[in-house]
Amino acid sequence: CSAELLTRQSRRESNARVYPRHLPIAIAEARGSFIRDLDDNVFIDFLSGAGVLSLGHNHPELVRVVTDQLGRLAHGLDFPTPAKDAFTEAQLSMLAPGLRHRMKIHFCGPTGANAVEAAVKLCKTATGRGDIIAFQGGFHGGSHAAMAVSGAVAQKKPVPGGMPGVHFYPYCSCTRCPMGLAPETCTTNCAGYLEESLRNPWGGVPPPAAVIMELVQGEGGVIPARRDFVRRVRALTRDLDILLVVDEVQTGCGRTGTWFAFEQYDIEPDVIIASKALSGIGMPVALILYDERLDTWAPGAHTGTFRGNQLAFAAGTEAIRIIRRDDVLANVRRRGEQIDHLLEDLRKHPWVRDVRGQGLMWGVELADPRDGRPAGALARRVRTHALRHGLIVELGGRDDCVVRILPPLNVTAEVVDIACSLLLQALTECRP
Ligand code: PMP
Repeated sequence: CSAELLTRQSRRESNARVYPRHLPIAIAEARGSFIRDLDDNVFIDFLSGAGVLSLGHNHPELVRVVTDQLGRLAHGLDFPTPAKDAFTEAQLSMLAPGLRHRMKIHFCGPTGANAVEAAVKLCKTATGRGDIIAFQGGFHGGSHAAMAVSGAVAQKKPVPGGMPGVHFYPYCSCTRCPMGLAPETCTTNCAGYLEESLRNPWGGVPPPAAVIMELVQGEGGVIPARRDFVRRVRALTRDLDILLVVDEVQTGCGRTGTWFAFEQYDIEPDVIIASKALSGIGMPVALILYDERLDTWAPGAHTGTFRGNQLAFAAGTEAIRIIRRDDVLANVRRRGEQIDHLLEDLRKHPWVRDVRGQGLMWGVELADPRDGRPAGALARRVRTHALRHGLIVELGGRDDCVVRILPPLNVTAEVVDIACSLLLQALTECRP
């Protein structure tokens, strides 16, 4: 049963394990938006393997493609193969023509963090500069450079030794202003501050190699960046010859309603980082797309054994075909509107500070109405109650005060209906 497996695994596995601590289930199998545990309980999975399963668990067409590919070739290092060729073509086809013809692709190790490492290394190599600018609240992964550019201080604190040179700036968002300003009074002070410190650096500080940003901070609490802020950062970085890296590990592959979130900001980045949902079914793969003028790497400059997962390539090409065929991006936008509507009542709840999202990335931020402090304890209880009712959700943001949902991109209206009512129920019954 679930309890037995959870106990046994907790004895043997590292103390760093995290999901089963808050969501104590042992998974027997899964299909689409549903997970069945070893005790035969069925859950709606609105975590989607941390935003990985864009077409849900074990999409039958992807299973077929992966199985076929497994019969031919599974692991291909970085040799050319037909599966890799088709996947490369499919990835590039998601970019607008102007960008597509300028971009090169680099396959990284299996995780998002590895692609972040690659992006940081590439920007440093191409510019000959060592520093990176990142944003408060950002999250880019658990490896060393990825952790260094993440705003998540708690993760870094226990690790002795220096972190690569990173400077953090406030992240500007209409709904979550770091300066406490309303959109009407803000003239993107965050961008102004960044601009001032880059144009007039004190003490001859050299310019950074790159600015790295998420366009919707995911782990940071589902915070979309303000449009004029992002556009100013792009104009500034271009003007000062600083590279702009967008981390689309979570927002990419259609999650926000367009292939990439940066499309909604009308900008062209120099480097794009993608991973999580690339294969649509959870086969690990990570990559960066970057402007060919940056291709200053020597052969072997960023290697890794697992850069040729043919199963991921085959599934990823098929996932893009299915998303186009079934107009899944339109579903993302429609289901996003549905969630917005269904969670409307939550906005009246005294402990709900904000309900926000883009596409199928949503967060309900909880705060104490008396002093505005993040209500992480309440959010943790909501997550537990939601699980009891059969809904898997995640948390993020300061003190984990944001209840986050990441449904599969092909989720149906019926499942969204049920899931949102379970979430409402969980919140209503949890006393602060
Ligand atoms: N970047 C972003 C925006 C992420 O959300 C994550 C993971 N949540 C990562 C990078 C790191 O990806 P991985 O866990 O696969 O290393």
